Amino acid sequence: MTHTLIDAARELAPSFGARAQEWDKTRSYCWQNIDDLVSAGIMGMSIPGEYGGRGASFLDVVSVVEEIARSCALTARVVVEGNLGGISAVMAYGSAAQKAFCAPLVLAGDKPAICITEPDAGSAASQMQTTARKKGGKYILNGTKHWITGGGVSKLHLVFARVMNEAGIEQGIGGFILFADPRSGDCLAGFEVVRREHTLGLCGMPEAELRFDNVEVDKKWLLEPPSGLKHGFADLMSAYNSQRVGAGAVALGIAAGAHEHAKRYLLDRKQFGRPLAEFQGLQWMLADMDTQIHAARLLLRDAAQSRGPDGSAFPDMTKAARAKLFASEMAIKVVNDALQMFGARGYGDQEPLERMYRDVRMFTIGGGTAQVLRTQIAGSILGIKTPQSRDGYMRLSDTTPVAAE
Ligand SMILES: Cc1cc2nc3c(=O)[nH]c(=O)nc-3n(C[C@H](O)[C@H](O)[C@H](O)COP(=O)(O)OP(=O)(O)OC[C@H]3O[C@@H](n4cnc5c(N)ncnc54)[C@H](O)[C@@H]3O)c2cc1C
Repeated sequence: MTHTLIDAARELAPSFGARAQEWDKTRSYCWQNIDDLVSAGIMGMSIPGEYGGRGASFLDVVSVVEEIARSCALTARVVVEGNLGGISAVMAYGSAAQKAFCAPLVLAGDKPAICITEPDAGSAASQMQTTARKKGGKYILNGTKHWITGGGVSKLHLVFARVMNEAGIEQGIGGFILFADPRSGDCLAGFEVVRREHTLGLCGMPEAELRFDNVEVDKKWLLEPPSGLKHGFADLMSAYNSQRVGAGAVALGIAAGAHEHAKRYLLDRKQFGRPLAEFQGLQWMLADMDTQIHAARLLLRDAAQSRGPDGSAFPDMTKAARAKLFASEMAIKVVNDALQMFGARGYGDQEPLERMYRDVRMFTIGGGTAQVLRTQIAGSILGIKTPQSRDGYMRLSDTTPVAAE
């Protein structure tokens, strides 16, 4: 099964590569590629067979993501969010009704948006201010989320909020499944996409600010993790570990693609009467790039196959942090070196290197910055939960964070 999907990804890669520049220049979402992903069974491949997917493992997904990211990082990000992150949280923790609602949408091409970050709660995600207050059989959502990938194109949204009971007493952090259909203009969920960011890279992917102003959500759409709301944030963030590994795989794929372009160019381009490939200074750069790519791939595979403690359905937090940290920093360096090997040609847009250089930059920021990941890894080495870790839980009324037990 894995082979079929990886083969399909390899077959699609040339057409994705051919269209990548167009999505970048026109800043448009890759709808055409999504139709291909749906036909190939790649969207929702991780969804269990009983809900119409293929039950592919996280390792299968990251292998497919790497293949696609070699030619189009934008499309690879869609595959990440169409299999990991939000949808994997729903499939692991959701009610039968939630799963039955979400799975067909993803299998038909929807890339769910995961809505955690707020203007005043980035790395300190547990300081989020968005609230969901119970009112009869409903919750009323208020707050703002920003830098939401897919805001304005995604139908499914997993919105993290502080859950309050009817008396306004906080119960913990939960996720709410909200549906909207931005293409038809039918915003059933009642929230607003306030603005779209102008980004350095991955320009076809909308990064948007969403506003929730007294948005009513039926209580059946509350995604309550198994350990309950009090520990809900830690559980929801553990689902995010799969997305982190996926993000690392996109960075890895960009690096591997850039390395392949550089290799071909060194064999082709002549200076001083010889192919560039004969110059030792460039050979050693290529060898270092290759070694780093292989190391990142091993870390990512190790993370993808791992599971957190207590029978978690998701990759181990430290392994995921380590793999994403290494892959993202490695990829920025490798793409930079590949561009260097092309000389002026790499700086212009007749080669894909300048796009890859811009695309790869985000991976030390989105989905946990390099600094936050280092803090998590250090906390694990030292055996402590640091206040800065994203699985720490902080009540709005607290001035000091409370680690999730
Ligand atoms: C392209 C892109 C896509 C994204 N997609 C999503 C999405 O789909 N959903 C979502 O919810 N969010 C998303 N984000 C938001 C992302 O998760 C945040 O940007 C990230 O968590 C960092 O938050 P911040 O930008 O507010 O930076 P800040 O938290 O303000 O940090 C600023 C700088 O300070 C450093 N820093 C902060 N705290 C510490 C500390 N304790 N020790 C050392 N250094 C520290 C950071 O590493 C960073 O370098 C996305 C971001 C980007 C760029």
